[in-house]
Amino acid sequence: MTPAKRREFFERLKVATPKPTTELAYESPFQLLIAVILSAQATDRSVNLATPALFAKAPTPQAMVDLGIHAVTHCIRTIGLFNTKAKNIIATCRLLLERHGGEVPDDRDALESLPGVGRKTANVILNTAFGHPTIAVDTHIFRVANRTGLAPGKDVVAVERALLRNVPDEYQLDAHHWLILHGRYVCKARKPECQRCVLFDLCAYPQKHAGAEKRVSAPRLPTAKARRKGVKAGKGRQPA
Ligand code: SF4
Repeated sequence: MTPAKRREFFERLKVATPKPTTELAYESPFQLLIAVILSAQATDRSVNLATPALFAKAPTPQAMVDLGIHAVTHCIRTIGLFNTKAKNIIATCRLLLERHGGEVPDDRDALESLPGVGRKTANVILNTAFGHPTIAVDTHIFRVANRTGLAPGKDVVAVERALLRNVPDEYQLDAHHWLILHGRYVCKARKPECQRCVLFDLCAYPQKHAGAEKRVSAPRLPTAKARRKGVKAGKGRQPA
């Protein structure tokens, strides 16, 4: 894909969704960190159903430690891998208190040293909480980057590096959310909706023509409010 096409690629996603953001509900970097830890191999919808009660009881690391492992486990029991995640959350909160004064660190190495926090989660926090132009490659971004030819790669690290090379500077900050939303609602894994894709003529996917004769002008993504409420969002997974 040429530089001019890459710029056009993101300009169209920007027109479709001018202010993209995460579908996870949160009110502080700490709450975002906990929500992202919970979202591993679970849907954003399932996380958003559980976190209001959890955050009402424990809005800070100290409150989470005080709440204790059993109560945390109970609050998140509807989310996959809840036992492991509850342990990681308590351990992470202890380390936030011991090493970072109860604050979420704006630093990759410090984030990745926390239990339950890998490269993808650290990238989400750095991007969404602190405004760094990082791109967390999840299953949706991996698929879109490869199908379209925007940033082909055999694994998530290769795709992340290719994206950081290929995404024009002015779109780096929001590229993460544009690509996730596009993969979640339009360029779906099993049946990409090419007939309503704004990237159709830019996309290098060999099978993109399926249904192309039914093309319409632009996709209609759910509004941010609807997504947070779980309208269609339940299908979106955040892999580990
Ligand atoms: S044309 Fe189809 S395969 Fe290509 S990005 Fe759009 S939905 Fe995905």
